Amino acid sequence: MFNWILKTIVGSKNQRELRRIQPVIRQINEIEQTLSELSDEALRAKTSAWKQELSAVSDPNVLAARLEEILPEAFAVVKQGARRLTERQHSFTVCDQPMTWAMVHFDVQLIGGVVLHRGRIAEMATGEGKTLVATAPVYLNALTGRGVHVVTVNDYLARRDAEWMGQLYAFLGLTVGIIQHDQPPEIRRAQYECDIAYGTNSEFGFDYLRDNGMATSRDQQVQRSHYYAIVDEVDSILVDEARTPLIISGPSTISTHQYDRFKPLVEQLVRNQTMLCNRLSTEAKELYEAGKKDEAGRVIFKLKLGQPRNKGLARMMEDPDLRKLIDKAELEFYKDTDGKAALVDLKEELFFTIEERQHDADLTLKGRDFLKPDDPDAFVLPDLLTEFADIENKPGLTDAEKAHQKAARQQYCDAQAERIHNISQLLKAYCLYEKDVEYVVEDNKVIIVDTFTGRKMPGRRWSDGLHQAVEAKEGVQIDRETQTLATITIQNYFRLYEKLAGMTGTAETEANEFHDIYRLDVNVIPTNRPVRRLDENDRIYKTRREKYHAVIEAIKGAHGKGQPVLVGTASVESSELLSRMLKLQKIPHTVLNAKYHMQEAEIVARAGLRGSVTISTNMAGRGTDIKLGEGIAEDGGLYVIGTERHESRRIDRQLRGRCARQGDPGLSRFYVSFEDDLMRNFGASDRMTRIMETFGLKEGEELEHPWLNKSVETAQKRVEQRNYMIRRRTLEFDDVMNQQREVIYGYRQEVMDSENPRELVFEVIDEMVPKKVAEYLEQTDSDEPDRAGLLNWVNTTFPLGLSAKKAALDTRSVEENGAWLVQIIRDAYNRKASMEHAEALRGLERFVILNAVDRLWQEHLYAMDGLREAVYLRAFAQKDPLVEYKNEAFSMFGDLMDSIKLEVLNNLFRSTTNLQAFENLLRSLPQSLIQADVPGLSRPQQAAPAPTRDAEP
Ligand code: ADP
Ligand code: MG
Repeated sequence: MFNWILKTIVGSKNQRELRRIQPVIRQINEIEQTLSELSDEALRAKTSAWKQELSAVSDPNVLAARLEEILPEAFAVVKQGARRLTERQHSFTVCDQPMTWAMVHFDVQLIGGVVLHRGRIAEMATGEGKTLVATAPVYLNALTGRGVHVVTVNDYLARRDAEWMGQLYAFLGLTVGIIQHDQPPEIRRAQYECDIAYGTNSEFGFDYLRDNGMATSRDQQVQRSHYYAIVDEVDSILVDEARTPLIISGPSTISTHQYDRFKPLVEQLVRNQTMLCNRLSTEAKELYEAGKKDEAGRVIFKLKLGQPRNKGLARMMEDPDLRKLIDKAELEFYKDTDGKAALVDLKEELFFTIEERQHDADLTLKGRDFLKPDDPDAFVLPDLLTEFADIENKPGLTDAEKAHQKAARQQYCDAQAERIHNISQLLKAYCLYEKDVEYVVEDNKVIIVDTFTGRKMPGRRWSDGLHQAVEAKEGVQIDRETQTLATITIQNYFRLYEKLAGMTGTAETEANEFHDIYRLDVNVIPTNRPVRRLDENDRIYKTRREKYHAVIEAIKGAHGKGQPVLVGTASVESSELLSRMLKLQKIPHTVLNAKYHMQEAEIVARAGLRGSVTISTNMAGRGTDIKLGEGIAEDGGLYVIGTERHESRRIDRQLRGRCARQGDPGLSRFYVSFEDDLMRNFGASDRMTRIMETFGLKEGEELEHPWLNKSVETAQKRVEQRNYMIRRRTLEFDDVMNQQREVIYGYRQEVMDSENPRELVFEVIDEMVPKKVAEYLEQTDSDEPDRAGLLNWVNTTFPLGLSAKKAALDTRSVEENGAWLVQIIRDAYNRKASMEHAEALRGLERFVILNAVDRLWQEHLYAMDGLREAVYLRAFAQKDPLVEYKNEAFSMFGDLMDSIKLEVLNNLFRSTTNLQAFENLLRSLPQSLIQADVPGLSRPQQAAPAPTRDAEP
């Protein structure tokens, strides 16, 4: 076996890296042999000795070096442990199923383990035993006592893997925790306390948000560290899932949207466009039949702009001659400036245009006119900068009047922007978001379906008001009252870890992204046995209908021979279509939609048995191994059929990888039609037209050629690139937020940890009081020092009762006044403090700060959402939205920090003067507002320590 590995190792960088690991593997195996002499106790003693030694090391570099030193022996201990469990036929239950341990690490699994330990991604094919691969690096790193996290794609797999691998960890003397969705905080904390914790990315991420954005004392936090994480199915989590951030939302106090109001109008607009497009479709046919080909081409092109999914259009696209006409018309329009001007006119004949590829819908003048016939400016934002300058230059206005006028214009502009935004989101909701494809409606809620995986994502929401727009469209209750309380992208959560590693069957195509965003390099590990899978050429059809018929025929053929078939689909919708077709043919089959992970795992596990037909969206049953039934290997193994090429090559490879595990035979083939989304939007359509012509493709006929696979792949690469750019963009925006979040969460943590929070309170006094003093007293061109104003602020914020005479502000310089006030405020506070119960006061001080931070941070998050929308509108004014966003976010954050500190000052002296009021305040903590039904969110325990009665002076 070792020889076979060596044979495959020649040349490339990846292979050089693997070759360098070889000596380590040899060493591990040599040590492992010597370990067989030891008793179980002696083996376990190694664990405790290392743990003791390593948990005392605090310097991360020293720690890393020492781990590298003991790696061969530690890995050998793990392998020896696995051997003993195998020899004893150790039996146990996993997810209530009986099981017997029968695995000892293969060499390739040890190589994978080394790669994981070094903070990289190990690409290992499906069925290579990645679950076991993780055990060695997990064991080694858990010896530090700092907690190792293993991240899985769903709760079921977290439990399965923890209970399964937990046998080995327990044998070696380590503890394993399992994080599950519905656990209360105390249980979670106990899981995190274990040496190793298994859980899903959202559970880990939401725990982080709750710990740092909501907990008000140390003992409410559940996580203890972000030291080392191994992410299983890393592409699914760090790439696919990373497209929607984790959001904890709660009721919002502010609501401005008007989706309900605009819905009937937009609905009418969409109806008008549909009627218009149906007319265009008829017109095009007539022109074509009358021989006016060029005109026909232009009309069809217009139809395509207005309704890319029009049925008549789809039929016309089947005809290569007509396709050529459209391409020609399109080319004419993009050729030169005249053409482009003509294109603008052409668009104006529609109510709006749709860019399926960009996921964009754009109102035309005609459309705007329909919506607001009497108001030409209804969809134009006022030029605020010029208007402000004009107001500034208007003679005879006081400053207050100017400010008032500006505010009025600003308000008008905001309302205008909101309307434009609402309407454009509604338009998208109607034209680009299809029910049962992009989302489903359940229990009066719109639930997003991940189009990559077919998985429902309850609790996630589209941002930017799109979700509300879809809710309005479906007539379900619009969640107007939600706002973001805490949010983080998956990317930024996983960047918290000191060391990150991942494993999957398919990482190579996304290697760039892993490198750029996570600093993760990919190593491709050879399989334990040579791969015997046959990947056949794609079969290409003109229409979906023909394609599905061919798929059914293929299933029938295999099923007739008893060969098991796994059919992969890109959406729930096409799974159901295929299932109906199979029912007509009376072929028994099972459908999986990634809804019930555990039952699915059981079904998928049986997908390799004789005669079984399984239809599955590409996420369903991921992580479960398909074992072949008796005699299946001799008959060619599992047959995997893909019914559509996915946007991403990686997802296709994942599907192919479901067959031919561990050297089994297997067969895979994709069926494609020119009507598939991928082909319509990204398959260079002129090329497809030429192919159809060259081969004279007729009804029911198919194409098959290696270079056709290539052109499909080219289309995929194009989409991958684009999707990556989108994810990067999201991340660039989140990075701004991330820095702010780090500051806020860091400060919160400091407050929670502080033994003497009064120092923090004094820091605020020291900073803000002189700042305020300067604000009131510093001489500027126009302003006189405003002593009365300052005195008023001081007296309404602090219980000092200063009279103008006593304060005598005019006898000191600005700086002296600042220092003097700081001193008397500190004295007053100390005097007050001396009358309070010391411990209760500390709790109170922490609470005053945290309360200010949380309330204002959440308001800030809301404002940042608004800012994001606003800068997109500015993009029309040729400004880079990201730059605008950064600048404005920076200044908003400065304001936020000031507001937080001022609020602290405001509440400082008020907090205990009235105990009843304080207790009310406690009860009105933001936590108590959080919706209980947000997934991953259980209500935190009561927050700050309530002061005891004897706190009363
Ligand atoms: P992957 O996650 O790589 O797709 P799994 O971890 O689900 O693979 O393992 C696939 C199957 O291979 C499991 O049934 C497991 O028991 C088996 N297996 C893994 N490693 C070994 C081994 N060293 N020896 C024997 N069987 C193994
Ligand atoms: Mg797996």
